[in-house]
Amino acid sequence: MRIEVENDAVRARKKQEYEDLVSKMQSQGYEPRLEKISIVVANLFALVLLAVVGSISFLIHVMVNGKANFFHDAILDNFSVQLWTWILLLVYIVTIFVHEFIHGFFWHFPCQKKWGSIEFGFNAKMLTPYCHCREALSIPQYFWGCIAPTVILGILPIIIGIVISSFGLILLGVIGVCGGGGDIMVVWTLRKHRDCKLFDHPYEVGYAYFVRVSHE
Ligand SMILES: [Zn+2]
Repeated sequence: MRIEVENDAVRARKKQEYEDLVSKMQSQGYEPRLEKISIVVANLFALVLLAVVGSISFLIHVMVNGKANFFHDAILDNFSVQLWTWILLLVYIVTIFVHEFIHGFFWHFPCQKKWGSIEFGFNAKMLTPYCHCREALSIPQYFWGCIAPTVILGILPIIIGIVISSFGLILLGVIGVCGGGGDIMVVWTLRKHRDCKLFDHPYEVGYAYFVRVSHE
């Protein structure tokens, strides 16, 4: 496992690693193709998710727990509104890092070098942590690592929040789903591929995939 703050040297090293992989695959008769997600579109999609997932979740919450219990929260009701706003904010910031850890946790299993191929970093320009897997993965392997944080930090808290009637948990879950907006878009593109190796792109949101080219 490698943990670092992204700088020019780190970026150059990741670019070099990627180019080395591309030439290795080319020598075996594979050509790289890029599947990348625009950050602007991903952010717009996150807003759509906020509106859609937010309304559906809170609507189900009202239907299950009743209007009177909308803001009810078994944990947060012990605190003042001001305090629980801070608690939610703090938990939210922690989940941004946990999100990246979950990517790495699920990706390390299929890697030959296990945690040795997982890299965590912090992009100081974008103020975001990231996780990068340095081995090519099959479609299901890539899929599970990509979607896991959205399920664990988004869908699961929404379901538990509705069951125990916790406004805070549902809210965190909705934000968790939005935080996985880019990941959902990436996963959506996977349906186009059959039987290919995917490589998490070192500096774009998305991945490279390799297709066999036949030279007649
Ligand atoms: Zn993610």
